[in-house]
Amino acid sequence: MAATLIDGRAVAQRVREQVAADVAVFTAETGDQPGLATVLVGDDPASAVYVANKRRACVAAGIADLHAHLPADVSQDELVAHIQKLNADPQVSGILLQLPVPAHLDANLLVELISPDKDVDGLTAVSAGRLAQGVPGLRPCTPSGVIELLDHHDVELQGAEAVIVGRSDLVGKPLIHLLLQRNATVTVCHSRTRDLPAVARRADVLVAAVGVPRLIGADAVKPGATVIDVGINRLEEGLVGDVDFDAVREVAGLITPVPGGVGPMTIALLLRNTLTAARLQRGL
Ligand code: NDP
Repeated sequence: MAATLIDGRAVAQRVREQVAADVAVFTAETGDQPGLATVLVGDDPASAVYVANKRRACVAAGIADLHAHLPADVSQDELVAHIQKLNADPQVSGILLQLPVPAHLDANLLVELISPDKDVDGLTAVSAGRLAQGVPGLRPCTPSGVIELLDHHDVELQGAEAVIVGRSDLVGKPLIHLLLQRNATVTVCHSRTRDLPAVARRADVLVAAVGVPRLIGADAVKPGATVIDVGINRLEEGLVGDVDFDAVREVAGLITPVPGGVGPMTIALLLRNTLTAARLQRGL
């Protein structure tokens, strides 16, 4: 029997509606509207589309859209000053520096300048440390979206064998902690893992965040497993994930499609993080 599909668009819509309702309550109670400061540097067309989508989603959720578009030749010092201004601005709840930035800029240094309480992408070292220690803070959006999808489908995580393929700071590593906090037994695979299919086959919950089209075949999936595909690979035939969807859906119990799985969750969780940031800044 083919796996049940996880509808990321529908779950994301639900999260967005809940955030909009919570933002309305927050604004009524505090008299302040949460605000997201997006920073777009240069004219990369893909980045422009991503930022436009995030800004539209903010407006729909009742979050103030505080956008800045800086020229491609902006200096590191100017950008540092801009981020420092946003850190100090009480109207700004969250700061999102759209990556990648042009090559003459030091992206790591710029990200680290963002106040941890405004770090809605959860990318600073302080946010990563808070996550690892399990103390309140802002968690990266995509891994949080993965957990949200699993919860929506009541996937049991306690005691479950979870295998993550990929160990990036953006997805794989934060997921380790999010799954550990839910008492899963977590294994992480990467490019040096020996016999990846054998390790992946242990998984009750398998998450692929690699960036290699269709790396995960049916031989890497335990019958009935939940398979979450974070990968977004642009091929001539269109967008494909890291999972060989047609083959794996015959083996898995639950599976995310690409597109329409994890992708839509990222913006939904960005909105939630912006509200969380506004609360953190008020000690709520
Ligand atoms: P990175 O390139 O930063 O990390 C990829 C990871 O995969 C690395 O840990 C790498 O191992 C591992 N890897 C690479 N090749 C193999 C292989 N053949 N076998 C096993 N492991 C391998 O990618 P990201 O985590 O940033 O992104 C992963 C994918 O998720 C991409 O397709 C990206 O587009 C997508 N993505 C989707 C998002 C969404 O909103 N849905 C958000 C973010 C990313 P090693 O460390 O050893 O090099």
